[in-house]
Amino acid sequence: MSRIAFIGLGNMGLPMALNLIKAGHAVAGFDLSRDALDQLKQEGGSIAASASEAAAGAEIVVTMLPAGHHVRAVYTGEGGILAAAAPDTLFIDCSTIDVDTARAMADAAEDAGHRAVDAPVSGGVGGAAAGTLTFMVGGPDSAFAAAEPVLAVMGKTIVHCGAAGTGQAAKICNNMILGISMIATCEAFALAERLGLEADKLFAVSSKSSGQSWSLTSYCPVPGPVPTSPANRDYQAGFAADMMLKDLKLAQAAASSAGAQTPLGATAAQLYSLYSAAGQGGKDFSGIIRFLRGER
Ligand code: NAD
Repeated sequence: MSRIAFIGLGNMGLPMALNLIKAGHAVAGFDLSRDALDQLKQEGGSIAASASEAAAGAEIVVTMLPAGHHVRAVYTGEGGILAAAAPDTLFIDCSTIDVDTARAMADAAEDAGHRAVDAPVSGGVGGAAAGTLTFMVGGPDSAFAAAEPVLAVMGKTIVHCGAAGTGQAAKICNNMILGISMIATCEAFALAERLGLEADKLFAVSSKSSGQSWSLTSYCPVPGPVPTSPANRDYQAGFAADMMLKDLKLAQAAASSAGAQTPLGATAAQLYSLYSAAGQGGKDFSGIIRFLRGER
């Protein structure tokens, strides 16, 4: 059993923290939301008065925050957790943030005498509740070895991707593939409709041909061929278009910073930006087929 501080108890963080409690860890939580803290307490966690108070008593600190600037503020801002924690505390940041901030926070943690990994997740709220998340982990071998048993409580697949920041790199590269391939799949179904080719016939062909992808066979953007896909429930998210847009923007920031050419990633980011601006950011990201058809 470890003493774990958990900071950021939102849609993802709260169910992750509850799995740590169920596994017998002593979890002290902090969030800006009183409701989230009350839920943690009801399920056996304790409430800290601040992020630094939570970190001060912990062997391990997990953060699950919205974006890079939140992580930077919580790590190194006024009342920051790096300064508050005892030496050699293990920091695990599960938020999806930009690679540059992830690397800067890993350096800051090391300078303060701690160990740190970036460990963003895939698997969504369902995976967080079920403890089946995939973790993509960046950081030194020793920090990964220390983090792995804790991550194994919250997830099923844990991949050590390399040095600090490579967990975030894996996350945004994977989601850039997903964003581009979803748009390609949607364009193909929209074109098929115009050409008088029925959706289930295109699915029958492409699911067994070189156009096959996860976007087609697991998350088909038209109703029918894959009964579990959000297309069958009016594109209720699943994975919201605004979340996809966030990850595509992170990929663009990383590409710009690293000097990589990602023209299709840039186009995907622009299309999701337009879809979101049309008021559809809360819908599932596969709903972009409606936008590509010219529907509202
Ligand atoms: P969320 O907005 O539900 O939760 C974030 C929580 O952080 C909120 O409860 C907020 O009050 C808290 N918070 C913000 N600033 C804080 C601070 N200074 N101190 C303490 N708490 C603070 O977001 P989420 O859906 O749980 O996502 C968290 C992260 O996980 C994001 O980076 C997101 O991109 C990533 N992610 C989300 C999903 C998903 O399906 N929701 C999937 C994969 C990855």
